[in-house]
Amino acid sequence: MATSSETKTVHSPLVTYASMLSLLTFCPPFVILLWYTMVHADGSITRTGNYLKQHGLQGFIQIWPKPTATAWKIIFCYGAFEAALQLFLPGKRVQGPISPTGHCPVYKANGMAAYFLTLFTYLSLWWFGIFNPTVVYDHLGEIFSALIFGSFIFCIFLYIKGQLAPSSTDSGSCGNIIIDFYWGMELYPRIGKDFDIKVFTNCRFGMMSWSVLAVTYCIKQYEQNGRVADSMLVNTILMLVYVTKFFWWEAGYWNTMDIAHDRAGFYICWGCLVWVPSVYTSPGMYLVNHPINLGTQLAVCTLLAGILCIYINYDCDRQRQEFRQTNGKCSIWRKAPSKIVASYTTTSGETKTSLLLTSGWWGLSRHFHYVPEILAAFFWTVPALFNHFLPYFYVVFLTILLIDRAKRDDDRCRSKYGKYWKLYCEKVPYKILPGVY
Ligand code: NDP
Repeated sequence: MATSSETKTVHSPLVTYASMLSLLTFCPPFVILLWYTMVHADGSITRTGNYLKQHGLQGFIQIWPKPTATAWKIIFCYGAFEAALQLFLPGKRVQGPISPTGHCPVYKANGMAAYFLTLFTYLSLWWFGIFNPTVVYDHLGEIFSALIFGSFIFCIFLYIKGQLAPSSTDSGSCGNIIIDFYWGMELYPRIGKDFDIKVFTNCRFGMMSWSVLAVTYCIKQYEQNGRVADSMLVNTILMLVYVTKFFWWEAGYWNTMDIAHDRAGFYICWGCLVWVPSVYTSPGMYLVNHPINLGTQLAVCTLLAGILCIYINYDCDRQRQEFRQTNGKCSIWRKAPSKIVASYTTTSGETKTSLLLTSGWWGLSRHFHYVPEILAAFFWTVPALFNHFLPYFYVVFLTILLIDRAKRDDDRCRSKYGKYWKLYCEKVPYKILPGVY
């Protein structure tokens, strides 16, 4: 187990306290207000605002749904099903990146099979009249409420496990209980040898719920109106393409910051268990009661633009991954890649090298992949048109998140690679948007 001095926090204690306090104080009520506004107040912030003005705190407590037995049952069945798929579906053995302590996590790549089996099972349950997804929509508030409390308890479990029974050497305390709880203690927590907790929370519960809820909203609109509006179709298809891309590339995701650098704590796990199912899916939640007709031309153009953005985002990740996997012996935009050979020292004092790609998408800016990510979110939201701001909350949130993430990643890489990162910044001066930022 790493000693306290070896474990660095991502932000200063002050920033951590401030962000933790605001996350704990504002995020749970925000999730409930978002759901309430989308489902019961026509998506209008003004309407919800007026309600709160009139009824005050008591009114807010009244709209906060209690976690019911139905909500717990839905969450439990879904979670158990996903855990079983993660454990038992066959998949290729893949290795994650070597951690700073020299540990190399091994995974079973069965995400794509789990994804298709989940959607197939869900649609079959509906088709054969065994379970109607509208039940999920009708109990959405209770489900979010249960997730808010349940995930908090889950994060306490993660903290205790990190203290008492860490799964690998990539674990440690920074000496501050609050920061340990918030940023997490273990990088690769597991139950037993094979059940990876972060793969479960981030991928199989969080990301999977995105696709399941997207389908749920579509079915709810169909059952409510007897048809699905083209706006809802564009939204659902784009979200499904995005999540399909995610699972197609899931083994690549295991090499990213979320898995390889961010520890399993409140910040990432609560976010994946609560924020993804509620906030990420919110444009679809809005559309259920707003069957907007875009017309074929606008619908097709929006769909194609969204697919193009998702493809470019995928291609950025693919380029980096292929470049690293082949040790730079690949072609990037039909040319040999230009690169920096960067050396760094691990916590155990070993010197290692990594390759930094400086051509292709990674030569445009240091985090160009965030541009198509944000644009794709815009294109699956724009079918909601511009009557209300709230459907665009996710796009705004994502933009802020990714700007912060680019900064965190730059800081981390600067301290890891030192002069080599400086060289990369000189070669590729923009952080996200070429020519602007
Ligand atoms: P990545 O982890 O994939 O990329 C950053 C890492 O790549 C760095 O930490 C560094 O790691 C390495 N790296 C940096 N520059 C280079 C380079 N020039 N050549 C090779 N390697 C380099 O980024 P993210 O995790 O942020 O993003 C992954 C995907 O997830 C993206 O598609 C992103 O859009 C998406 N995403 C979506 C979010 C959402 O909420 N919807 C949130 C965040 C991300 P090393 O230490 O190995 O050198």
